[in-house]
Amino acid sequence: MSRRRPQDRTPRDPIPREGLAPRFWERKRLTDMSRAEWEALCDGCGKCCLNKLEDEETGEVALTRVACRLFDDATCRCAQYEIRHNFVPECIVLSPANMAQNLYWMPQTCAYKLLWEGNPLPDWHPLITGDPESVHAAGVSIRDATVSEFETPDEEWEDHIIEEPLPGNSGGPRER
Ligand code: SF4
Ligand code: SF4
Repeated sequence: MSRRRPQDRTPRDPIPREGLAPRFWERKRLTDMSRAEWEALCDGCGKCCLNKLEDEETGEVALTRVACRLFDDATCRCAQYEIRHNFVPECIVLSPANMAQNLYWMPQTCAYKLLWEGNPLPDWHPLITGDPESVHAAGVSIRDATVSEFETPDEEWEDHIIEEPLPGNSGGPRER
């Protein structure tokens, strides 16, 4: 008879969040955070990896379900994060220095945008729940909800525009 070790079924957090001071984001400005603290703020929603449409007249930006070619819909992560710029040179590396110029397109629930604008993190944020799945359970992420940019012609992107949930809203993305 073969024996198996019991498996740890706790989902592993793909974003390192261990060893950080409790609720550091409430006591530090974004500009004062360490690299590890900055990276830990990402909730893993994946929405910054969606292609956007910008209204030429109003400048309003809408998110679409059409994901970047490197986005892995099943994991809700960039499939080649470390070497992504070899394939997608325009992928923005967010930092305190370029926040102001990027705010206009950032998702409403993005932790960086929320903190930059003086708002608290929502109660489903993995830093608060301790569970990387909580962003998905809250219906805020786009895991299993995207379409491929390879298979979606530009003229069809408008058909895939999504309306974002508000930061405190537990409802998922909705069709417009
Ligand atoms: S939108 Fe913000 S919180 Fe969500 S994955 Fe992108 S950087 Fe992280
Ligand atoms: S290159 Fe990776 S991190 Fe950048 S938008 Fe595409 S999937 Fe997201």
